[in-house]
Amino acid sequence: MTYLPALEKTDPQIRDLILAEEKRQWNVIRLIPSENYASKAVLEASGSVLTNIYSEGYPGKRYYEGQQYTDQIETLAIERVKKAFGVDHANVQPYSGSPANMAVYTAVLQPGDTIMGLALAQGGHLTHGWKVNFSGRQYHSAPYELDPKTERLNYDQIWKQAKEVKPKLIVAGYTAYPRIIEWNRFREICDDVGALFHADISHITGLILGGVHPSPFPMADTGITTSHKSLRGPRGAMMMCKAAHAAAIDKAIMPGLQGGPHNNTTAAIAVAFKEAESPAFKAYAAQIVKNAKALAERLNKHGFRLITGGTDNHLILFETFKSKGILGRDASRALDRAGIVANCNLVPFDTQTPMNPSGVRIGTPSVTSRGMKEPEMAKIGDWMNEVLTHATDEAVLARIAGEVKEFCSSFVCPGIDPLNWKE
Ligand SMILES: *Cc1c(COP(=O)(O)O)cnc(C)c1O
Repeated sequence: MTYLPALEKTDPQIRDLILAEEKRQWNVIRLIPSENYASKAVLEASGSVLTNIYSEGYPGKRYYEGQQYTDQIETLAIERVKKAFGVDHANVQPYSGSPANMAVYTAVLQPGDTIMGLALAQGGHLTHGWKVNFSGRQYHSAPYELDPKTERLNYDQIWKQAKEVKPKLIVAGYTAYPRIIEWNRFREICDDVGALFHADISHITGLILGGVHPSPFPMADTGITTSHKSLRGPRGAMMMCKAAHAAAIDKAIMPGLQGGPHNNTTAAIAVAFKEAESPAFKAYAAQIVKNAKALAERLNKHGFRLITGGTDNHLILFETFKSKGILGRDASRALDRAGIVANCNLVPFDTQTPMNPSGVRIGTPSVTSRGMKEPEMAKIGDWMNEVLTHATDEAVLARIAGEVKEFCSSFVCPGIDPLNWKE
């Protein structure tokens, strides 16, 4: 039987593109640190008939009838999130991470209030106060920066700045920071200056649930996470908070910012949290960090300068321009042609432009989901070095792409079954 038969019949163009994407995900080494492979169970829930239902409101308090099952599903998701993080309250309705941050700010801030988040160019997210983002337009953004010497968070420096600017809220949690975040220091700073402590753990949720990164809860006043990064769930997000903010947070999402929740995503979030309770998930989280350390060590050995000198989490930010004379965009394009997918990235205090910065950002969640371990990381590091020292040699890139494809064929991808492709 043909794979994806209904799509084949209705829209063969889209069917072929999805199939091609499935094969791409199988055949390449995916190192983008915010990406992963969702399990078949997560994909089944998110591709289910729950997409047919409207459920504006919250379980037991809906505007529409027909919620016999969706109420149970959303309640399960909420209870699992609350238990996993040990928080008073959770809301699983945000459509994605950015709207989740928007909802938290809407709940606890007034337009014009001062917020402090890590500068975008140093690893903060757009929604942490970047000037062209809603967060920098509606609020007064006073971004903090990394320590120029250590390239790490300097809590005393952040504290000093917070005393000066008196923010209403401080955001901790990043998109390109390879080290452990000391949440207790943020709690201390926020208590001292009377600010709310907001934790955005989107990148590291899987590590936190797996017990290999400290949790900001129940310390943080509010928090958000996406569900599709190291957690390996569906495309979505959730908010967590102390009881004092529960009503405001719910109201900010509905009716403040959104209409009906995506019930298919809600169900898949519940599934992802169930999966995260398993011993296998703990082993996965631990292996992500071991893999990142192994890959970092290999790249370091090959002469790439690692930002902060290494990693404690799933992510590595490294310098290509000064290390090897190749700009980040040229580096990521060459890697992609060789079957290794990464993204170029600004490094702290970069002198180049965001479109072609000095470095590359990689992470190990996806390769770890495929069952790769330290020996495979060494091999990947060697390939990366070969690519980046022969970045304009198409023959080398094509040869490595072939080797990568062959190598990938012996590692399964959760959610993908190549037997489906046999006609
Ligand atoms: C990914 C991410 C977001 C935004 O998530 P989207 O789902 O892409 O909107 C927000 N904050 C951080 C720290 C992230 O890494």
